[in-house]
Amino acid sequence: MAGLRVWSVLVTGANRGIGLGLVRQFLGTPSPPAWVFAACRDPKGQRAQELQNLASKHPNLVIIPLEVTDPASIKAAAARVEEHLVGSGLNLLINNAGITKLNSLDAETLENMTRIYTTNTVGPLLLGQAFLPLLKKAAQGSPGSALSCSKAAIINMSSYGGSITSPSGWDLMQIVSYRCSKAALNMLTKCQSLGYREHGILCAALHPGWVQTDMGALSQALGTGCLLSSAPQPAVTVDASVRGMLKVLSSLAEKDTGTFLDWQGKVVPW
Ligand code: NDP
Repeated sequence: MAGLRVWSVLVTGANRGIGLGLVRQFLGTPSPPAWVFAACRDPKGQRAQELQNLASKHPNLVIIPLEVTDPASIKAAAARVEEHLVGSGLNLLINNAGITKLNSLDAETLENMTRIYTTNTVGPLLLGQAFLPLLKKAAQGSPGSALSCSKAAIINMSSYGGSITSPSGWDLMQIVSYRCSKAALNMLTKCQSLGYREHGILCAALHPGWVQTDMGALSQALGTGCLLSSAPQPAVTVDASVRGMLKVLSSLAEKDTGTFLDWQGKVVPW
């Protein structure tokens, strides 16, 4: 990610999977950000052990408590980040936290639809709102007017599953609540790109690939929740996905705001 010079970044859902991979690679880059904010639900708990280990070695890593479905938690996270930044802005907000629920069209419920939409779509909306002052500050403090992730950006972790033109994997899994939440996240990304352009903030949706994480493995389970040994395996390692996405982020420019790209930089049909 030679071109990505980010002074500060916040990643949600950072305690495992793709979020943890993003944090690791940000820390491992030759010129790492001055601040890497790793947001997770339970910073002191067992599930954040790897983050805690990383934080003990990297003073620029700060673990921030964040439940993305709770507006008070989001506001508190923004206040904590602001305290650390002492007058500077946040360059990059990566809305990565997400959930899915394996279900068929017939079995989908109000509870699932609501819970998944709240996490995957409303969370990124509220995070964008709460961090807007810090993102604006970063944009104002960065030279030039051209949009870039090094200046100020919101990246929403979407999914090919939310593509309406090409809703991949229907035969493997219907996951209607997840697909709808990601299609809505794509629209949110477009809205954010339109609304935040004037503030110098780039907004884009990314598909990370089918990645070897807890969620990626879940996708092998068909409907009933049982893992089938014959089911296809997630193709992409966390490392490869994150490496690809960071390269994509480093290349994003004016023309890319409001777009939907995959981890290799290819345009994904809405
Ligand atoms: P994982 O299930 O491995 O990790 C999900 C992360 O999100 C965890 O850190 C989890 O925290 C966090 N999270 C979930 N709900 C909340 C919440 N309410 N508040 C705060 N944090 C929360 O998923 P992946 O790493 O695979 O996925 C990351 C993103 O990439 C998701 O948005 C997903 O939709 C997307 N994606 C993934 C694909 C894949 O193949 N893996 C394919 C396409 C898209 P906790 O440990 O507390 O549960």
